[in-house]
Amino acid sequence: MDTLTLPTFCAKTRCESRQFIKTRVGYWLAARNGGLGKGFGVSVREGEQRLMSDGVTPLRGSGLRSSGLPSSKPALKDPKDLNQLIRKIARQLEPELIEFRRDLHAHPEPSREEIRTTANVYERLQQAGLEPRLLDGTGLICDLGTKAGPRTAIRADIDALPLVDTCERAWQSTNEGWTHGCGHDVHTTVILGTGLVLRELENQGIEVPRTRLIFQPAEEVFPGGSLTVMAQGGLNGISRIASLHCEPKLEVGKIATRVGPITSATDEVEVTLVSTGGHTSRPHLTGDVVFALGEVITQVPSVLGRRLDPRSGVNLTWGMVHAGEARNAIPAEGMVAGTLRCLDVRAWERAGHMLDEAITQVVTPYSVDVTLRHVRGVPPVENDLAVTNDLMDAARAVVYPENVEPTEQSLGGEDFAWYLTKVPGAMIRLGTRAPGAPLGDLHQGALDVDEDAIEIGVRVFTKFIMG
Ligand SMILES: [Zn+2]
Ligand SMILES: [Zn+2]
Repeated sequence: MDTLTLPTFCAKTRCESRQFIKTRVGYWLAARNGGLGKGFGVSVREGEQRLMSDGVTPLRGSGLRSSGLPSSKPALKDPKDLNQLIRKIARQLEPELIEFRRDLHAHPEPSREEIRTTANVYERLQQAGLEPRLLDGTGLICDLGTKAGPRTAIRADIDALPLVDTCERAWQSTNEGWTHGCGHDVHTTVILGTGLVLRELENQGIEVPRTRLIFQPAEEVFPGGSLTVMAQGGLNGISRIASLHCEPKLEVGKIATRVGPITSATDEVEVTLVSTGGHTSRPHLTGDVVFALGEVITQVPSVLGRRLDPRSGVNLTWGMVHAGEARNAIPAEGMVAGTLRCLDVRAWERAGHMLDEAITQVVTPYSVDVTLRHVRGVPPVENDLAVTNDLMDAARAVVYPENVEPTEQSLGGEDFAWYLTKVPGAMIRLGTRAPGAPLGDLHQGALDVDEDAIEIGVRVFTKFIMG
């Protein structure tokens, strides 16, 4: 029962997709040349006003909002001049981007329900004169750049987590029980900001390499939204792809990455045992599912640890177990569920068969029926050498070489890995820890970020694209 569940591609037209969003949030898309008008969910500007009334620093205005047609200014010759121009534009945009991120943080949305987030990114890209394309469901992609050559994609994930926001900021979540506890509000803002800087470079007459911005839904669930993006042609014509993840353990101003695997394979495992149930005085007359569950919980991780190469870092950890209601009754059913993580992609491929075999053998003596639900989640993110080097070069140019650090492979999973099964790419870790702040972690309701990281991320990705 080693299943890989792929999402079915819904062949709706773009118009139907837009209609879908209209139905859900009651906004309408204005004519292509008219931009977005009234009823557009909660617009960025309305969000800003609300945040401002909550005591947040008002938007200072970037002056770039109404960027028009490209001017006829000549291209810059000296790369140093280009770096300075990127820095200048990014700095001008920074206040707006911080407000944009705070607005996203105040309105986190569940995986595949990122309707408002999609709408706000769409609106801002359109205001900049770009032509984003809504994906069926949620999420969007946007092509820009005209310089001949291969097209590079940069990807943000846009969904939030079912956690209570305890950041205690003015921009705390208004969607109770949901928060951007994985920093995807920052990712979305960095990739949006990169698109806006690239567009502004074009406006100033500088040729920009062909680029695709990907705002991907549903990173936090299986199957991940990267498969949805790929099923809708999101990687068509793309030669390499890059992404980022917030790193709350790394101080702001630092970037970390590595060549090779940077995250791990992550699967969901659920084992259900069924028998007739009975009296605890007569366990020999039934299948004792509680005892058998205990064997599964302790023996199966041991079997995997002996049958798979220890260097593969295989780790089966249970997070949930349920069985029984009375101390003197053997229940008829019990279940245990957890995650299977693996550092090595080859061991990951073998682990499915191994798991099935190990569970069957462990419960065989106890006369219980067993069902295994093993959902293959994501393979490890395997950072490509050339793309990683280009990202590190860009990072060194922005934060200076001493602030670009090697990092370890984490046991966390990232569905960015699926893109890398098709095109070379790499992911960086963006330091978001405020100087002197306590060590935080991802997937925590209290996750807070130093917003200086946004402008840094924008400059790194812009530099990466511009070369
Ligand atoms: Zn996450
Ligand atoms: Zn994440």
